[in-house]
Amino acid sequence: MTILLAALLFAQGSQTLIPSSPATDPQIIKIIDEGKNHSHVMDFLHHIAIDIGGRSTGSPELAKGEQWALAQFNRMGCDVHLEHWEDVPGFQRGPVQVAKMVGPLEATFQFSTNVWTQGTNGPVRGQAVVDPTTIEQAKAMAAQLKGAWVLMSYKSSMGGARDRDAKELKDYVDSCGIAGRVYASNNDLVHTHGTYKWKVGDQVVNKRPESHPMDIDVTVRRSDMDRIQRWMGQEPVTLEFNIQNRWLAPIPQYNIVADIKGTEKPDEMVIVGGHFDSWNGPGSEGANDNGTGASVALETARILEATHAKPKRTIRCILWTGEEQGLLGSQAYVKQHVNEMDKISAVIVDDGGTGWHAGYSLTQDMVPLMSDAVSPVNAAFPDMPDKLVITNRFSQEMGSDHDSFLRYAVPAFFTLEGGNIDYNWIWHSQNDRIEYSVPKYLVQSATDAAAVAYSLANADTLLPRTRNVTSDAARGKS
Ligand SMILES: [Zn+2]
Repeated sequence: MTILLAALLFAQGSQTLIPSSPATDPQIIKIIDEGKNHSHVMDFLHHIAIDIGGRSTGSPELAKGEQWALAQFNRMGCDVHLEHWEDVPGFQRGPVQVAKMVGPLEATFQFSTNVWTQGTNGPVRGQAVVDPTTIEQAKAMAAQLKGAWVLMSYKSSMGGARDRDAKELKDYVDSCGIAGRVYASNNDLVHTHGTYKWKVGDQVVNKRPESHPMDIDVTVRRSDMDRIQRWMGQEPVTLEFNIQNRWLAPIPQYNIVADIKGTEKPDEMVIVGGHFDSWNGPGSEGANDNGTGASVALETARILEATHAKPKRTIRCILWTGEEQGLLGSQAYVKQHVNEMDKISAVIVDDGGTGWHAGYSLTQDMVPLMSDAVSPVNAAFPDMPDKLVITNRFSQEMGSDHDSFLRYAVPAFFTLEGGNIDYNWIWHSQNDRIEYSVPKYLVQSATDAAAVAYSLANADTLLPRTRNVTSDAARGKS
């Protein structure tokens, strides 16, 4: 029986419930004890963020991580395998990633280059020169531009350079033999992005080691650019960049799929997952986007196996890849598994950072099953409430892997995140590091995912299919 501790009315007619009552099912009691008191979630996260590090799609680090995760699921006792979705251009950040001013004084910068972009061939030293804005200006500066780092007056955004010079001006400046271009970010955050596609003639093709754009575009923090420009007002400034970006042959990309097989209805399932890939700009460990969600999925499987859970339906834990390039792994997954879509009760995706599982956005007809599922978790973690947010339009699209399932009307949740976190400081930036991950929040998240998945896997019915799925909502942060 479910006790409602709180029921709040929200502005748009949505209602929030915090069902809470201690577990009575002996298996749920074991799951909550294991998750709350014997957690391994930070062990997983340490390995992912520190031992493996940034895991960009197409990187050897991601490939290494996939093998590690496969071994983890295997050791727990899951039935696990890799599912190939594409070969993408290989790209690796070498260990040397340095940006600095060497004169008139020495100072290092925080910076990034996009994935699948050209680095320097060793340290490249050159004078800082402000970008010419007309061809005439550029011609007058030709001698100065040779070997120079050109400071762009345009700001760069997370997508790289937001504005570009006209092609004629750009080509002329390139022909002068510049070292590269330096952009400033909007603030102290340096975002990393990038794509492995580019346009050759009229065709969009994959970049290749032997065929890719040769521009060197570096983004430094706003404060670093301000410092360069302050000094330039007084005397010549020399910059040095050593950016060991390596191009590799195409690397096969996989989703990792681990099952705890259902005892009565193995074809029906509950999915718990998150993306395993991350951006990998200098400084970033991909800890919170999405090492945390991947660790929660691994810990979910571990809790269930450690407590010898025998769910009636299959509980499937999935680590998708290619998420940051546009949900590529999960889109391939739903196509490869299209015949299973009607048999999925729920998909729980954790991709909102290190917060605790603070809620599920759902339709009224899902409340009874989900109340039963979250009640014992709320009783065990009363200071980290896991709410049911009732909306008339199912789920809020956040641009993560659950979107791929919403298109098939599968109840797919992007877990709401609770806690005192400034996720903007972290997301896709040089600050995505484990020092900002909060262990107690992740303990709750994994316990919640395991208990909710088990409860739904054993429920009398699948969650009702929503008729209110929308797929055209504005996409948010992924
Ligand atoms: Zn993410």
